[in-house]
Amino acid sequence: MTDKLYYRDAYLFAFDARVVSCASSGDKFEAVLDRTAFYPEGGGQPGDTGVIGGVRVLDTVSRGDDVVHICSGPVSGRVAARVDGERRLANMRAHTAEHIFSGCAHSLYGAENVGFHMGSEGVTVDLDIPLTDEMLRNILVKANGVIMSDAAVTCYYPSEDELAGLDFRSKKEIDGPVRIVRVEGADVCACCGTHLSRAGQAGLLMAVRTAPCRGGTRILLKAGKDAFEDYYFKNRELSRAASLMSLKEDETADGVAALNSKIDELKREVRDLKDRNFALMCEGAQTGAVPFVFADGLAPADVMRFADMLAEKHGRGAVFSGDDGSGYMYAVCSRSGGCRELSRSLNAALNGRGGGKDEGAQGRVNASRRAIEDFLYSKSV
Ligand SMILES: [Zn+2]
Repeated sequence: MTDKLYYRDAYLFAFDARVVSCASSGDKFEAVLDRTAFYPEGGGQPGDTGVIGGVRVLDTVSRGDDVVHICSGPVSGRVAARVDGERRLANMRAHTAEHIFSGCAHSLYGAENVGFHMGSEGVTVDLDIPLTDEMLRNILVKANGVIMSDAAVTCYYPSEDELAGLDFRSKKEIDGPVRIVRVEGADVCACCGTHLSRAGQAGLLMAVRTAPCRGGTRILLKAGKDAFEDYYFKNRELSRAASLMSLKEDETADGVAALNSKIDELKREVRDLKDRNFALMCEGAQTGAVPFVFADGLAPADVMRFADMLAEKHGRGAVFSGDDGSGYMYAVCSRSGGCRELSRSLNAALNGRGGGKDEGAQGRVNASRRAIEDFLYSKSV
C-alpha cells in the first residue's frame, strides 16, 4: 500500500522514495513507490505528471491501494521525485473552484452536481437543473465572493458519529472512510482529490459555456490563470470588434445585429440592380438557335437567373459568362422545353460538360466566344 503524501500535504511536490516495483508494460514502465506525492487519476481529477529518478512520469493511476506511476523508462532503488507543480496547482485551483461553484448552485437553487470532468479546456460540471442566465450569474457572483473572502478549505476524515450529523454533497455511495472537503461558509462535499488550502488561491472563477444536458445544464468553468487567459483573450477580441465598428464595447452585439440587417438590405439592393441590368441586356440579346447574351463576371446562380429572365421575355434564352482563356459558364432556359438536348449539343460541339432538365440546364464549355457564337448561329432554330 503506497503512503499517499498528497493527502497530508497537497502542496508537497518534491520528495524522495524507494521503488517497490517496476514492471514493463508495452513500451512503458509501471513503477510503484513506498510513498508518493503523485496524485492518481480519480474523482474527476487527472493523474499527475512529473519526474522520478530522472525518468518522465506520463500519468499516474490507482490500482487497489497502490499508486502506479506510468513512466517512460525503468526506475529502481532510492529516487528523488518531482511532481509537475504548475499543472497540479492548476488542477487544484480548478477542482476547488468547482466545489465552490457546485456548493453555491446547491445552496441557492438546490442543484445537484451529477457529473464532473477536468480536461484541457477547463472543468465541466453537470447540474441536474436548467439554469437561466440570471441563475448562472447569481451562482458566479456568490462563488467569486467566497473566493474573494479567501475562505479556508479543509480536508478531513470525520468519525462515524460526526458524519451521521453532517449535511454534505456526495456524487455516489462511498465504501470505507469518507473524506470531507469543507470550504468554509460555502460547501461541504465528500471528495478524494487534491484541493487548495484557501479559496482565494483560485483567483477567479468564470463559466465560459453552458449547454442543456439530460434535463439539466452542462457548464464549462475556468479558474485561476486559465480564467485570466480567457478573459484577456476575450477582452482583446471584443475591443478589436468594437473599434472596427467604432462602437463602445457594450454596444458590440447590437452593432453586429445592425450590420447583419444592413448586409441583408444591401444584398436585396444588389439583386434589384442586377435584375434591372439583366432586363436591359435582355433587350439586346442576339438571336441564334436561341436568344443569347454574353455577360462578364457573373456568379453561377446569376447565370441561371439571367437565363430564366431571357426565357421569360423571349420564351427561351442562353447566357454565357467567362473568357476565351478559361472558357464560359452557361445556362439555358426555355418555357417550351428542349434545354437538355441543347445542352448536350453545346457540350459535344464545344468541349463542354453539364446538363439539367428540359426547362433549364447549365454547364461549362471550353471554347472561345467566337466558336460559341458560330455554333449558335449555325444551329437551326
Ligand atoms: Zn474535490
